[in-house]
Parts: sequence; structure tokens; C-alpha cells
Amino acid sequence: MPHILVVGSLAYDDVQTPYERRRDVLGGAASYFSLAARLYAPVRLMGVVGDDFRESDLERLKKRGVDIAGVERVKGRSFRWLGRYDHDLVTAETINTDLGVFGDWDPEVPAAFTDSEFVFLANILPEIQLRMLEQVRAPVVVALDTMNYWIERKRDALTKVMSRVDIVTINEAEARQFCGTHNVIRAARQILALGPRAVVIKRAEYGALLLTKDRIFWTPAYPLEEVRDPTGAGDAFAGGLLGYLAHSGTVDDRTLCRAVLHGTVCASFAVEQFSVDGIEQADQTGVEARVRELQTLVSA
Ligand code: AMP
Repeated sequence: MPHILVVGSLAYDDVQTPYERRRDVLGGAASYFSLAARLYAPVRLMGVVGDDFRESDLERLKKRGVDIAGVERVKGRSFRWLGRYDHDLVTAETINTDLGVFGDWDPEVPAAFTDSEFVFLANILPEIQLRMLEQVRAPVVVALDTMNYWIERKRDALTKVMSRVDIVTINEAEARQFCGTHNVIRAARQILALGPRAVVIKRAEYGALLLTKDRIFWTPAYPLEEVRDPTGAGDAFAGGLLGYLAHSGTVDDRTLCRAVLHGTVCASFAVEQFSVDGIEQADQTGVEARVRELQTLVSA
């Protein structure tokens, strides 16, 4: 089975919804991604945490089979994010981002990880994403995710990394912001023109859109009656997507479409509970059952 290498934020989040507020909960793009991807293939996690990061949170990841040998602990504060959601529980308003120890982190991929076949550059400084990419020997598939914070501050570096990856996942609002167009199909085509072979635009409750040179595929979100915390939906989505690709060992258009269904289902588990709890508790049987349900949603 191929390995998946991921780098991205490992964080403590303070999340507010109109109904609940939780402080200091385990978050970060790389945490959500790993907990989803481990349902499909072995995951190697890279990131940096400060001395305030609870050992028990690293243990949670390890207990789910995630290889944390690439997680560095240094003196300082861990990444912290404070976000708020409105009643629609869709768009996060970032109130504060504190990069902490990620601010000047120079990642070095452990020798044992450089043979990873699947690489996910989760949401973090584009310079870190680029530096990671340069150190992996011969990746089969590299995917990337980002957000408005980096589009606003690091557009050039981000564009450079995007042009070097195979798959870009990005949410609808951020695709519009990055491309300067309201139309999501046109935005996806613009990103495709930078070089990736596939672009996935995540549209929260409206699902996800996949665009390749030859194919457009669209799935609705898995229908949930209760969403508690949308944080990490995009990262869990990417975990299901890349996990399924690694498990299948191929990246043709048909496999990509199926991977989008798996990503969608992983996201549904993530948003059902606060923090990483939902995706941490998910198992393969549950994921497969929801994928089957999702497939029947639009076939009459
Ligand atoms: P998502 O809801 O999928 O966009 O991901 C939310 C996660 O991303 C949270 O757990 C945050 O800790 C993390 N996050 C928020 N802002 C950033 C940022 N600028 N760079 C990297 N990670 C971030």
C-alpha cells in the first residue's frame, strides 16, 4: 500500500457557532486530513507544535495509526485559530490566526518519508508547502489546499506551488477570490490552466465540483440533519479524496470521481461533531455505507 505524506497546520482552535463555543480544541488542517486519510492508507504526518501542545493530542493521532515521527516539538506557542460561524454554519469568519511556531519553521522531511508516493500539502504557508515538495523523491500524486489567509498574503508563492501539483482543492469563495471571477467553472478552468490535472471546488452543503481536462463531475453533500462544527470539513474531504486515490493506486478520471464521493462522506463525519471528534470516530464500514447512499441520491 502506498504511503501518504501530509504537512499542514496542527492547531488549537477556538470555535464559536451560534449554539456553542469551545476553546483550545484539537484542530489544524493536517489533523483533520490525517484522521480521514488513515481510513484508506498509512499516513505520515509532518508539522511543528509548541511546548503547550498536549501529548495526549499527539497520542490521539497515533492511536488512529497516524505516523507522527515527522512532528517536531519546539519552544514556543502552537498554531492557534479563532473562528466564528453564522447561523448557516457554512462560512468561517477568522477572528484571529496566530502562526506561532509555524511562522519560522523550516521543515525537513525525515529520510524514511522521502519515498512517499502520495503527498498532501495541507493549508499552511506556501513556502513550507514548496519546501516539502522539493524533498520528496518521486511522488505519484501531489495535492494542495489553501485558504483566503494565504491568497491575501502570499499569492505569488501560492501560485508557484499550485503550478507544481497534480490536484488543487479549494473552497468556492476562495476560488472566486483567487481567480477574480464569480463563476466557479471558469475559476476551476483558470486554476487548471496553471498546471494541475484536476481541481476540486468545495461548496459546503452544495457539495463538490471536480474539473479535469475532459470531465466535470458534481456531487451534492451528504445530507445531514445536524451540523455542529463545520471546521475541518475541507481537510477531511481532502483526506478521503487522497486516501481513496492512494488505496486505488490510480488517478484516472473515473477514480477521481469516486474519490470525490469519499471526500464528501469524510467531510460529513467531520462536521457532525466538534473538533476532530467526528472524523476520529469514523470507520471504514460507516464511510462505505454513506458512499453507497450518496450514489443513490441523484440516480432516479
Ligand atoms: P477548514 O475548515 O477545512 O478550512 O480547516 C480549518 C482548520 O484549518 C482549523 O482547524 C484551523 O486550525 C486551520 N487553519 C485556519 N486558518 C489557517 C491558516 N491560515 N493556515 C493553516 N491552517 C489554518
